[in-house]
Amino acid sequence: MFDDNQDTYYPVLIYFQLSISKIQGIIMKDHLCTVRGYIYEQKNGDPDAGIKAGTSFEEIPDDWECPDCGSPKEDFEELED
Ligand SMILES: [Zn+2]
Repeated sequence: MFDDNQDTYYPVLIYFQLSISKIQGIIMKDHLCTVRGYIYEQKNGDPDAGIKAGTSFEEIPDDWECPDCGSPKEDFEELED
């Protein structure tokens, strides 16, 4: 009686993938440099330093520096909106 399960499985998969992309949109967080107020926006990245748009703050290499004042990542804090 469960032989037809394949017909219903696919839409569930699509729904699941849509949910994941929604969650990823929500966790895009901007980060504020506490020294001079520069804001790292994940959606823009930092192309001048080779950081592609969409790169999360956590994915930025540890030797990255604030483009405004040269502070290290430790001087940034997460922004809540
Ligand atoms: Zn800075």
